[in-house]
Amino acid sequence: MIIDVKNLSVEYKIGKNYLKAVHDVNFSLNKKESLGFVGESGCGKSTLAYALLNLLEKNGRISDGEIIINDKDLVNSADREIRSTRWKEISIIFQNAMTALNPVEKIGIQIINALMEHEKVSKKQAIERAKDIFNKVGISPSRLMEYPHEFSGGMKQRAVIALALICYPNILIADEPTTALDVVAQRQVLELLLQLQEEFDLTLIMISHDISVVAEACENVAVMYGGEIMEMGTTDDVFKKSNHPYTKLLINSFPSLYHEIAELEQIPGYPPSLEDLPKGCPFAPRCSYAEDICFSEKPAMREVKENKLVKCHFAEELDFNKGGDSLLVK
Ligand code: SF4
Repeated sequence: MIIDVKNLSVEYKIGKNYLKAVHDVNFSLNKKESLGFVGESGCGKSTLAYALLNLLEKNGRISDGEIIINDKDLVNSADREIRSTRWKEISIIFQNAMTALNPVEKIGIQIINALMEHEKVSKKQAIERAKDIFNKVGISPSRLMEYPHEFSGGMKQRAVIALALICYPNILIADEPTTALDVVAQRQVLELLLQLQEEFDLTLIMISHDISVVAEACENVAVMYGGEIMEMGTTDDVFKKSNHPYTKLLINSFPSLYHEIAELEQIPGYPPSLEDLPKGCPFAPRCSYAEDICFSEKPAMREVKENKLVKCHFAEELDFNKGGDSLLVK
C-alpha cells in the first residue's frame, strides 16, 4: 500500500472556535491506483488535498488521524521529514496554474530550483531533467526559459504538471487540473495526465467538481459532502448504481461528457455551513428521503457490498437508480 489515510479530520480556527472542515476520512491506495474526490464547492475536497501534503493554511490543523505514505506517518513526523516527503513521494498540481507559478520567474528556473532544493543534483543535471520533463509534458525544451505569461492556459497547466513531477513522486494529487481551461485544452491535459500516470507508475488522487472528468480519469471515486465521504467505490459502481441520494442528485445535476441527460436537476438548498453542521446526517436538510432518524443520528459508514462504502441510514433500501441516467452509459 502506498498511501493509507485513517480517520483523518481537519479543522480551521475561525475566531475562537475550531470548525471541522474534513471529518473522519479513510482511504488507501496501491501503486498506480486512482481515486477521485467529487462534491460541491466547500465540501472539503481541496482541504483534504492540502492536508495530505501538510500544506494547510495557518489557521488549519489536522485534529485527528494518520496519513501513512510509504510506511511513514506524516501527521506525526518532524517538519524536515514532511518536506522531504513532499515533492519526492507526494506532489500536487495546484488548482490555478497562475498561482502555482511565480509570474516574475522563468518557468525553467522555477523547475530547476525545485529539483535542486529536494535532490542532490548538479545544475547541469537539473537542467537536463527539466528539459526531459518538458518533453514529457509535450512542451519543447526550447521554451524552458520563458515566463508564465508567454504560455497559453493549456501550456501553463502542462508546465505546472512538469513542476509537480520533477522529483518523480509516487503519488500525484491533481486539484481541479482542468477547471480553468477551454474544452480542447481540458481534453488534452486529461489525456496527458493519464499518459503520465502510466509512464511514471503514479498513484493518482484527483480533486474535481467535474464528475465527468473524474469518471474518465479515476477507477475509484469518493463523493464528499459536509467534509465527509458519503459514498466510495469503483467509479463504475458509484456512478451507475449509486446508493446515496446525494450522489444521485450530483450526477443528475451535471452535464455528461458522454451523452445528454434529458433535463439537469438542481440540488435543492445549499451545502451546510461549517459553523452550523446538522446534528444527524449532514445531507438531511436537502434530502427528499430524510426520515426522523436522519435529523438526530449520524449514519455510520458501512460496506453495503464488496468495495462499496456508503453513509446513509437507508442505503440498502433506497432504489432511485431505476431508469435513471448513468454518467458512464455511452
Ligand atoms: Fe438522506 Fe437520511 Fe440517507 Fe442522509 S441518511 S442521505 S438524510 S436518507
